[in-house]
Amino acid sequence: MRLFLFICICLFSVALSAAQDSFDQIDQSGALGNATILIYHKFGEDQYPTTNIAVDKFASQLKYLHDNDFTVLSLKSLVELLENGHGIPDKTVAITIDDGYTSTFTAAWPLLKQYGYPFTVFLYVEAVERQYRNFLTWEQIREMRLAGVDFQDHGYSHSRFGDAPQGVNDAEYENWVTADLRKGNKILAEHLGYKPHFLALPYGEYNTIIQQAARQLNYRAVFSQDPGSVSRYTDIYAIPREPILGIDWSTMEHFTTILARKDLPVTDMFPPAKPLINLKPENFCATIVAPELYKKESFGIYVSELGWQSGKFIGNRLCIKNDATLERRSNRVAISAQEKKSGAAAMRYWLLIRK
Ligand SMILES: [Zn+2]
Repeated sequence: MRLFLFICICLFSVALSAAQDSFDQIDQSGALGNATILIYHKFGEDQYPTTNIAVDKFASQLKYLHDNDFTVLSLKSLVELLENGHGIPDKTVAITIDDGYTSTFTAAWPLLKQYGYPFTVFLYVEAVERQYRNFLTWEQIREMRLAGVDFQDHGYSHSRFGDAPQGVNDAEYENWVTADLRKGNKILAEHLGYKPHFLALPYGEYNTIIQQAARQLNYRAVFSQDPGSVSRYTDIYAIPREPILGIDWSTMEHFTTILARKDLPVTDMFPPAKPLINLKPENFCATIVAPELYKKESFGIYVSELGWQSGKFIGNRLCIKNDATLERRSNRVAISAQEKKSGAAAMRYWLLIRK
């Protein structure tokens, strides 16, 4: 259930038309290459059970990837595949670590080095800059960077960007996000010697305005914390990542489950990932790009507050009617189905945060 606390969003006009254009390709191959992007936070810090993973569990997960022939790509290589519209080889994984806690250096890095796996650390800039306790120092970051570790941007203040300041219009809201990102990115560029061009949004919170701010600042890719896998149909400004943390989500069972998940390409989600004003949307819908790849009776639509419902197709568009008023600050909407060929669970999530 904790999954559903994280949310993501997919926006998409560009991704959408790309999806439509490539429809024939999916259809012919009957399969869609998928990668899983993992997010870790803390390692061996038992006093923070909700964001931690035990070091021995982390070690077992790396061993699992190795023993089962997963390819661990750098985030840069994976983004390049997406940018170029290339397919992704199945059994591909990318490893990301958020915030930049000390245990990234002391516990995670030694293990990752053993396997030679590339990984990206998204830095919470203010915490590093102001030397909050248990965060990496610039010296440690430099040592890792010189050894080839990739550092990218997680915003300056780690604010919930989904919460626009009171009373602002859309332009002022975007400016507020922009100011935070610009400040953090500048500090990172000074210390790292390069300008980070990947952004992991704090708490994975996105909407069209946050994405627009990121686009204007020329980030090449934006990462959420939505569950789900990455395919060539993924919106590059809302790339899902799977959090591996806490008691339930750091188990090997959860780990193998998320590695088996497939992306479910959809377009024209409703409501879209804009700041949500109408709290009683008349329906929840998405158009399924290639519905024939999935077992028809397996389709479902999920809304955090409302649970799963089976939905109704009109052509390729799957909808549930709604007469509930949404109470929560944020809801995740998901479409899921089972692939005919592989039996794998395919899903796509997006995020709705109320204005
Ligand atoms: Zn964070």
